[in-house]
Amino acid sequence: MHEAFLLHADHAPAAPPAALPRPALRLSCVVPAHNEEANLALFVRALAQVVRALTPDYEIIVVNDGSRDGTHDAALALLPELPVRYLALSRNFGKEAALSAGIDHARGNAVLLIDADFQHPLEMLAQMHELWLAGYDMVYGVIADRTAESGAKRLGTRLFYRLLNSGNRVKVPPHAGDFRWMDRRVAEALKRLPEHHRFMKGLYAWVGFKTAALPFVPQDRAGGESSFNLRRLGSLALLGLTSFTTLPLRVWSVIGSVVALGALAYGGWITVETLLFGNELAGWPTLAAGIMLFSGVQLMSIGVLGEYVGRIYDEVKRRPSYLLARDEDRSPLRDGPAP
Ligand code: UDP
Ligand code: MG
Repeated sequence: MHEAFLLHADHAPAAPPAALPRPALRLSCVVPAHNEEANLALFVRALAQVVRALTPDYEIIVVNDGSRDGTHDAALALLPELPVRYLALSRNFGKEAALSAGIDHARGNAVLLIDADFQHPLEMLAQMHELWLAGYDMVYGVIADRTAESGAKRLGTRLFYRLLNSGNRVKVPPHAGDFRWMDRRVAEALKRLPEHHRFMKGLYAWVGFKTAALPFVPQDRAGGESSFNLRRLGSLALLGLTSFTTLPLRVWSVIGSVVALGALAYGGWITVETLLFGNELAGWPTLAAGIMLFSGVQLMSIGVLGEYVGRIYDEVKRRPSYLLARDEDRSPLRDGPAP
């Protein structure tokens, strides 16, 4: 079974853990949905069918993240038919918040996070289940093939992970998305992290536990369109960088020191030159260029500081990361004794 692992340096599996005596599976499937009317009903039914093969004890938590299409009605229509818990957020809070809402309300002893658009292959659930039984606490899908994406997006993704993981103790595995199966303990750990702006890919890595990676090729979206355009991806990347590294802050200290040293040396040289050869008021272009360069550098570094200050401001307000407008609970799972 273990040859299925992607043997890439970033995802090298730790030695397989000793198989734990896992309790009978009670699975909570968290499905975030934002404008998914084209997919939701079909997807949840397909998911239920696959999950039923694994366990009779399951719930599907549909989190409607402020959709403006028929997602709400599609979800309500599922309620009489399937063990669904329907959470509607009061507006669009973003996928990270929607996933947090699902995890917060999950009652199973394992939690599955899966997109509503059929991009995450349902065939992988059986294998994720097996790995969980084998003792892994978190099994995540790693996108094995990004050739379908545009060159710019691929380049941006690579650059992002390079920056994110530079000099960071907690390495965020590249190309690992939100498609994951986690043990109850991991879900509890995630719930304990207090930040409000949640960069989930970083948090999964931060909590640790025994993890296994499974490569997969995302399928095409079944219907509707992706909610993540370049601007949203950019802002997610900025959230990731500012919440998981202080590298951008450090870079400016280094640039600042180098530039200051250079300026000092140049100043020394000018003094010597003037003393030896006199001064005939040369060098205005240098001066103008220098001033422009340095004001640019200063503005940029203030901007970087601003990003972090803004992040701190957002966190100290201590607003919840999402608000529920509706909670329809048809889940058969009940909170059992603490795991
Ligand atoms: N999603 C969400 N809130 C958002 C954006 C997306 O809950 O603000 C959900 C969406 O319904 C889907 C999943 O997150 O189930 C992935 O989104 P999408 O397919 O748009 O992203 P992509 O797969 O293109 O990265
Ligand atoms: Mg998608």
